[in-house]
Order: sequence, then structure tokens, then C-alpha cells
Amino acid sequence: MKENTLESHVAGILNVLDPDPLREGLERTPKRVARALTFLTRGYQQDPHSVINEALFTEEYSEMIVMKDIDFFSMCEHHMLPFFGKAHVAYLPAGKIIGLSKLPRLVDIFARRLQVQEQMTTEIARTVQSLLGARGVGVVVEAQHLCMMMRGVEKQNSYALTSAMMGRFRRDGRTRGEFLDLIRHGRISV
Ligand code: ZN
Repeated sequence: MKENTLESHVAGILNVLDPDPLREGLERTPKRVARALTFLTRGYQQDPHSVINEALFTEEYSEMIVMKDIDFFSMCEHHMLPFFGKAHVAYLPAGKIIGLSKLPRLVDIFARRLQVQEQMTTEIARTVQSLLGARGVGVVVEAQHLCMMMRGVEKQNSYALTSAMMGRFRRDGRTRGEFLDLIRHGRISV
């Protein structure tokens, strides 16, 4: 149903953009774009709580847990063009941990929507914090935005960096430093 609606809107766009929107190459494009857009925004239908709750374990481990280089693809809500890159997520558990594979899933849930990078970064951090009751959460996102690369300022090599630090990651410079070192060098500095 939703895909049908999308399909007719995309057909409308093609009508405006192309002098021959019914030619062979474009004939099935509305259907394909509708399907692609549905996939790229599927995060709206996914609930982070149910993803995390089914993989929550009680565990005494209390050191920092870091998942770095989580690839993601999102679309900026201003131009509906892709932005993509890597997310790094860390937390200090307080009695509860989640299966490691859930952190990329969580990133995906927030990335697969129309997004703003800053907001996505904060949403990921808040969700980990509230669902795990962690002592602290750090999220860093580095991304390239096609709306900057293809149009506008046309800066090809600039990355946008955003971060959200909560709890110990905000208060304690050493915790934050350890996290940032791990992202940069893949090891804990001693
Ligand atoms: Zn944009």
C-alpha cells in the first residue's frame, strides 16, 4: 500500500524531470525506487526496545565495551540524499550487557530513517543509556554527505564528525580519552 503511494509519487517526479518518462529504462523505475526507499527507511518500523530487550544479559563485567567501525547508510532529511560512514559506540555497563551484534542493529534502526547526523548520534547514545542503565555511553559518528559532495559546497573530502557523551563519558576526561584513543588507534593507551 505504502509502496504503491510512493510509486505514483516517483512517477510524478520522473514526469517533471525527464522528457520521456515512459521509455524502457525508466518504465519500472517508480517501482524500483519505491522499493528502495521503503528499504532505506525501514528503521521507522523497528523498535529499539524489542531488539535490545531480547539480548540483555546480567553480567558483572564492568570495563568499557567498545564497538568501533560500524558501517551505516542513512539519508539526510534536508535533501533526501545519502550520508554514510562509521559509527563507534561504547558503554560502561552497570550489571547489564547486550549481545555485541545488537549495537550495529541499533545503529541501523536509527540510520534507516530520514535523519540529521547530530540527532542520529544522540538517539543512539540515549537509547543505549536508557535501555542498559549504563554508567556512561559514548557515541562518535563520522560521515560523508552526498548533499555536500554532489551539490552545494561540493567538498569531496570533508567528513562531518559528531559525538554524544553521557554519564562517565561526559564527566570523566580519562574515560572519554580512552574511548577516543580506542577509536583512533584500536588500542588502550597506557
Ligand atoms: Zn543534506
